[in-house]
Amino acid sequence: MSSPTTPASIEAYLRAAPKAELHVHLEGSIRPATLLQLAQRNGVDLPARDLGGLREWFRYRDFDHFVEIYIEITRCLRNSEDYELIAYEFGAEMASQNIRYAEVTFSPSTHHALGVAQDVWFGGLSRGRERARAEFDVEIAWVFDIVRNVPGPEDNRERADYTVGVAIEGMRDGVVALGLGGVEVGYPPEPFAPYFERALAAGLHSVPHAGETVGPPSVWGCAQGAEGREDRPRSALHRGPRAGSVPCRAPHTAGGLPYQQHPARRIPEPVRAPAAPLDRGRCPGHSQLR
Ligand SMILES: [Zn+2]
Repeated sequence: MSSPTTPASIEAYLRAAPKAELHVHLEGSIRPATLLQLAQRNGVDLPARDLGGLREWFRYRDFDHFVEIYIEITRCLRNSEDYELIAYEFGAEMASQNIRYAEVTFSPSTHHALGVAQDVWFGGLSRGRERARAEFDVEIAWVFDIVRNVPGPEDNRERADYTVGVAIEGMRDGVVALGLGGVEVGYPPEPFAPYFERALAAGLHSVPHAGETVGPPSVWGCAQGAEGREDRPRSALHRGPRAGSVPCRAPHTAGGLPYQQHPARRIPEPVRAPAAPLDRGRCPGHSQLR
């Protein structure tokens, strides 16, 4: 048993401490058993039919495979109840790990492109978020991210436009930031700067992914001006409190990189600040986080 003179193990401390989760994707966080249940009830034929098979399928190979899994998971979500369930269960997981506040990334345009209406997905997410708050005393905030690797300039623009539109509209229902995700190769961040300008003007924060597969040029693309102009050295992509790139943990940890070696540990503290200021109203555990 620990006492003031006997330090607890770091694992025990991390389990017990109230935490804020700042980089997590809802679609990638669905419980495996729930995913199987959703696939079955919505008639989606997944590459795996049981938990063992899912575990094997989830094993990280490369970023493209990672994205492929992500899209298959999205196909399993059809009804408002599906979205409510995954948001509610995410809240339950937060409570089980004593995570009191989370900024949760969700990719609206992928669901939109699969024919799911906004009131279906957002209505479900909002009900799940409310139930989780009421039952577990946890706070979920949303980061809606633009998917960068949509082929075809017209579709790409339409889906980016849809995302920033629903993000701004959703600010009253917990959206705090606009993100940018997906395959980086061939899809640099600079063309998306105008969408971030719109989001920032509306009061959202900016949390693009950058550097996961392309490395420094992608980070630099976010850090430079939208047109690379010297008189405008920081684009809208780079102006949130969490400036520039926040590495996604999943590919690294799934790829076997120990947490102790994760590059996130080298990011300066101010850059790791949450997109939304944590205050007592938003985050019940805030006073204990300090
Ligand atoms: Zn990520």
